[in-house]
Amino acid sequence: MGRFEILFADEMGYCFGVRRAIEIIEEAAETGRRVASLGDIIHNPQAVERLESRGVRVLTELDDAVGRKRRGGLDVLAITAHGAAPQVAGGAREAGLEVVDTTCPLVTIVHERAAHLRDAGYYIIVYGDRNHPEVRGIMGHAGRNAIAVKAFEELPWQAPRDDFSAPRTAKPPKKVAILSQTTMDIRAFTAFVNRVNEIALPIGGEVFVHNTICKPTSDRQLAVRDLARRADLIVVVGGKKSANTRHLAEISGELGVRNYHIQRPEDLDPAWFTAEVKTVGVTAGASTPDDVIASVTARLREISEAPVVEPATV
Ligand code: SF4
Repeated sequence: MGRFEILFADEMGYCFGVRRAIEIIEEAAETGRRVASLGDIIHNPQAVERLESRGVRVLTELDDAVGRKRRGGLDVLAITAHGAAPQVAGGAREAGLEVVDTTCPLVTIVHERAAHLRDAGYYIIVYGDRNHPEVRGIMGHAGRNAIAVKAFEELPWQAPRDDFSAPRTAKPPKKVAILSQTTMDIRAFTAFVNRVNEIALPIGGEVFVHNTICKPTSDRQLAVRDLARRADLIVVVGGKKSANTRHLAEISGELGVRNYHIQRPEDLDPAWFTAEVKTVGVTAGASTPDDVIASVTARLREISEAPVVEPATV
């Protein structure tokens, strides 16, 4: 046996939404048409590199895609698994592009819910990172009477009554609905909802909460909590831009377990695995390919079985 045992989270790696998105875009690329995705199809560098090697370009702006279409350099625009605002697909189709929609069905549910709440007159709070493509897409369906925040302090009406610099909207609207980015931490979401309730309910407000954190995300978070009880150190594998992967590292840290978020096996530093580390936990985000997890595991085995080099004595 090596220096440490390797333990795996019960739930980790690709979720069905990511697998589905990759299959759809690969099928489109196989037809020989020129395909581009608007943003990374998923937030994992290896998966994006693989798709690029099959001819799928990554574009950041719709205008860029439209310009390429006009110049005859693009046929198909893929909406990523994160989804997009309705205007994106509309604008692409208007320019004559074929749109391949790989939006995860669980994100589509959030879009439908946001549109329904918008039409019902709710002020919609989207709990999430406003710069994340998924949140931008949800906001596109939520309409103008909506805000995206990832902390209670970012809400415009939370300022104390004696804060005269507080905005005029210091009182919450009467009808508030809260949705979440699908990959947020369920405990942090619950705490956020509680704080909104504390401020809205005493003034007779109505707060409608829809927990839109997806089950694959919740399952991976529960599994890393369990892993943290068993492991001395946790290695979290996945893209640095992947929100759900980052949350796995954050949860490990909150539970007091030393952890490292890495993208590839070369990122592992043998110096992390000190003598007191007897068990190393491995988990991976919902956008981490199976072969990346396998190569990280293989490198961990090498490190565990390598002879221990004692520090030189003077
Ligand atoms: S993390 Fe959840 S919402 Fe995102 S693609 Fe996977 S299943 Fe869908």
